[in-house]
Amino acid sequence: MTLLVMPTYSCHLACAYCFESTIGWRMKVKLDYDLDRMMEAIARINRLQPHQEAVLHGGEPLLMPLRDLERLIAFIRNLGLSVSVQSSCSILSEEHIKLFKRYNVRVGCSADGPPELNVLRGFWPRGKPLEELNRRYREKVQRNIEILAEEKLLGGVLTIVHRANAGDVEKLRKLVGWINKLYELGSRYGRLNPMYAVTPWSKPYELSVDELYRAYVWMWENFFQDRPELDWSPYHDLVAVLLGQERRALCWFNGCGFYDAPVWTVGPKGEVLSCDRTLGAGMWLRARPLPKTQLLDRKIRAIALCQTELAGDRFCHLHKGGCPAEALGGDWRRPSRFWRLWSRLLEYFERRLKALAPWLKLASEVPDRLEYIEMVSRGCVWNPFTGRYDCPKGGRG
Ligand code: SF4
Ligand code: SF4
Repeated sequence: MTLLVMPTYSCHLACAYCFESTIGWRMKVKLDYDLDRMMEAIARINRLQPHQEAVLHGGEPLLMPLRDLERLIAFIRNLGLSVSVQSSCSILSEEHIKLFKRYNVRVGCSADGPPELNVLRGFWPRGKPLEELNRRYREKVQRNIEILAEEKLLGGVLTIVHRANAGDVEKLRKLVGWINKLYELGSRYGRLNPMYAVTPWSKPYELSVDELYRAYVWMWENFFQDRPELDWSPYHDLVAVLLGQERRALCWFNGCGFYDAPVWTVGPKGEVLSCDRTLGAGMWLRARPLPKTQLLDRKIRAIALCQTELAGDRFCHLHKGGCPAEALGGDWRRPSRFWRLWSRLLEYFERRLKALAPWLKLASEVPDRLEYIEMVSRGCVWNPFTGRYDCPKGGRG
């Protein structure tokens, strides 16, 4: 379970595709958090559902003044949780670096490649990019990524995949060259998330499912497949679910119920929200926490989809319809707009795994897909060597 802590919904930037732009303030800073209530909410959630890590998120969490940022980080560390920060990495100061070192905080940077590809982030007020400001923003982000790496504080990198950084082979070459450079600097983790347009001006940069499929396969075949030392999503997630190891995979492939997402978010006033990705759909407060035995059932959406809209999809029980916050038609009951992409990539990696080890019984080959969803929701794990479920004591195998 991930605990997100959002000291502010605002951000000094206005990236072209920011999916949070509907809930926050872009290119305006509004800081009206209540630190005590935030800390109370964090402690309450952690009592109800113990977490190992809190991620400071936003908006831009580094907009919070240093003194309060330190109080918040120290409080979370005292609860026994590790802390990381997800930031644009464009306003990092020496004081931040000292603070992060003091509390062993890792920083994840959001960037879509080297400066020449990182063009949809930055200042895009109402779709009009501010070229000179953006040029300086891009250089600064790259410099800060390098500083964080030198200081051994760089966690991972969050990269959104779109036409401006993955629309042709030349761009893809630059993108993987940059990922390689990050590795040389000491960072082996990252995410490559497909972009969807939430603003009219980001629409031309959206790649179709076919284009995304070709881009992900190109990066795999020309780079990642020979780099086992790298741990970049979605590759390891797709292979994990095929091998029955879905707990190692992203929340997208673990079944998400929207009302009760596996992510808890604490807002600036201590409000407890569902995953930040769902906020754009207007669902602000989280379903009221219930005792463990009564937690909302996350498998329901996946089971319903595998019998209806995704009934013909051989992989529906593995991607489970994907993230509901990016659902088709904005209706969380429907599958993610990327379900065909995940399905095709699962088929691609299924072929590769079977070519290497034809005796494996992959989770794509289970006799009953609905039973699979039911079994994993009970804590059982598909064993690709025996072709059976391994269940915790008292379960059914
Ligand atoms: S840095 Fe993040 S929160 Fe800020 S505008 Fe860009 S995508 Fe949105
Ligand atoms: S809404 Fe999407 S991103 Fe959030 S927890 Fe669910 S699957 Fe994950």
